[in-house]
Amino acid sequence: MLSAVIIVLTAVFFLNAFFHSQITQAEKNELNQYEGYLHETIGNLVRQKQATTQVLAIALSNSIDFRNVLKQRPANLHERLKKFTDELALHTGYKSIWIQVIDTKGVSIGRSWTTVAGDSLAMVRKDIADVLKNPRKINNFSVGKFSLTFKSLAPIFDENGKLLGILDVISQVDSIDRDLQTSSGVSSVVLVDKRYRSQLTKARTGTFVEGYYVANAGVSKSVLNMISQYGVDKLFHAKGHIIIDGTLVITTPLKNILGQKIGVWLSFKPMKVVDLSNTRQLYKNYAMGMAATILFLILSMLLFYFKKKSDLERRFFYQIFDESSEVIYVTDKHRVVQANRQFFSLFDDISTVEQFNDKFDCLSNVLVEEEGYLSRYVDGMLWHEYLLQDHHKTLLAKLKTKDGIRTFKVRINSISNSFGHDYISVLLTDITEEIRYKEELEHLIIHDELTGIYNRHYFNETLEEEIKRAHRYQVPFSLISFDVDYFKNVNDDFGHDIGDTVLKILTKEVARSLRDTDKFCRIGGEEFCILMPETDLEEAATTAERLRKAVQEIPYSDVPRAVTISLGVTKLNRWDNASTLYKRADVALYQAKDKGRNRTEVIAS
Ligand code: GH3
Ligand code: MG
Ligand code: MG
Repeated sequence: MLSAVIIVLTAVFFLNAFFHSQITQAEKNELNQYEGYLHETIGNLVRQKQATTQVLAIALSNSIDFRNVLKQRPANLHERLKKFTDELALHTGYKSIWIQVIDTKGVSIGRSWTTVAGDSLAMVRKDIADVLKNPRKINNFSVGKFSLTFKSLAPIFDENGKLLGILDVISQVDSIDRDLQTSSGVSSVVLVDKRYRSQLTKARTGTFVEGYYVANAGVSKSVLNMISQYGVDKLFHAKGHIIIDGTLVITTPLKNILGQKIGVWLSFKPMKVVDLSNTRQLYKNYAMGMAATILFLILSMLLFYFKKKSDLERRFFYQIFDESSEVIYVTDKHRVVQANRQFFSLFDDISTVEQFNDKFDCLSNVLVEEEGYLSRYVDGMLWHEYLLQDHHKTLLAKLKTKDGIRTFKVRINSISNSFGHDYISVLLTDITEEIRYKEELEHLIIHDELTGIYNRHYFNETLEEEIKRAHRYQVPFSLISFDVDYFKNVNDDFGHDIGDTVLKILTKEVARSLRDTDKFCRIGGEEFCILMPETDLEEAATTAERLRKAVQEIPYSDVPRAVTISLGVTKLNRWDNASTLYKRADVALYQAKDKGRNRTEVIAS
């Protein structure tokens, strides 16, 4: 049992570890996937922004209007540019597009976001100097004094291809932030590397955390607190995703066109809204799988345990059942349903319950119906019903077995199983030998070994009983006492063995002349008594005479002379007890001896 528990626990442990690693892996995969998706989304949005910025730059740089602007340098350029960007903000998703127009000397002649103009940028902005030297369209994603911006420079040529100036379109990261928020429910913090800290003299949002400039507007205080608590340096250099207080934080590096990392895009999404449905499904499967596995293991274990236990119990039971010295069988009151080896040993050619049922209906078929023994019906009831009334009752049954008629003690028990079937178990104990032994013993106790007639013990007991009975029913009772005449001489002349033979022949002859009701007893040596119930004195005297004559006439092969007996006869009187009665018979016997032997003397009272 203990080993089974250990096996189950080990299996559960390994399964759990396996499923857990699966889940952790799945979760990791899912988060990695999500991370990849965000990197891509941000990358796309950045590229899109860049492209749009460039599209704007190209479109505007090719418009006649800007050629004229550069040729005529109108005073209201700022207003015109601002009007244009305001309209963009109103009608498009580009809420913070800045436009400036630069002449061939690198001087800003007008800006949409400020009235400031006339300053030279050739020294400040390498990209502008570059385009002036080698006019072409270039894009840049860079940090200026205001912010991290997308810059798209497009040269403006006149109709003859002469360079008139440059159109500079600048856009902020804010729109990307908004797009990301609406498309993916992700909030962002765009951090500019702290090495640009000094360069950002006119930082647009004015927000810095630990020297890192926050390039997007409207970042909440709590998010700023969170990143500074975690450590901005750590976040800036983080690779992949991090989970901070239930929020998934993904760091996407932002690179300029030279591939230099100038900032990072931190995307925040609460873990609970991150789509981990696959993992959840896996979790569900895991939980269910685990529960099912544990349940299965426990059930198997229990099944195994109970099966083993019941097998053992069954084996044990059948062993006891089969090895019992008693005959045991179970019946549903119609047929035998189970029986042990001893049961089958009662019959020839029957070794299964089916064979028994084919041959017999019931045990009654082999009953020997005899007075005092079990018969099919007892007190008008079927024998087993009779016995079921009182479980302590036992009856004796005589059965015809293959070894002859044998006597059994029968006990019965009712068995009810959980299906409501009523069975009875019948227990038969073979007591044939016991009975025989008991009978032998009883016989020995009351019989004389030499002659086979009753002995003195029987005489004493029966005399008392018969006297009581005769007194109670006031019926006559007589007693004859006799003794062999000169028996000593027989022994002396022919030997003790011949004496014994004479005694045997003599008793046989006497017994033959008596009635069944008379009880012939050897009192000792060659002295005998005959109890004669319901016999009056006269009858007894007659019998005595008949016996005397019969004895006298016995021919013996080894004894050449007649053996005679002397008899004393008396009857029971009202005042008599065993002792007085016996004494009187004895007195009568001695009178007979005295009067010459081979005669009968009668004393009435
Ligand atoms: P009586 O009775 O006529 O006076 O003479 P008796 O010879 O029979 O007298 P007694 O009672 O003195 O002797 C009885 C004899 O019976 C003595 C004994 O040797 C013999 N006897 C008693 N029991 C047995 C017995 O079981 N077998 C044999 N062979 N002899 C027995
Ligand atoms: Mg004698
Ligand atoms: Mg004697």
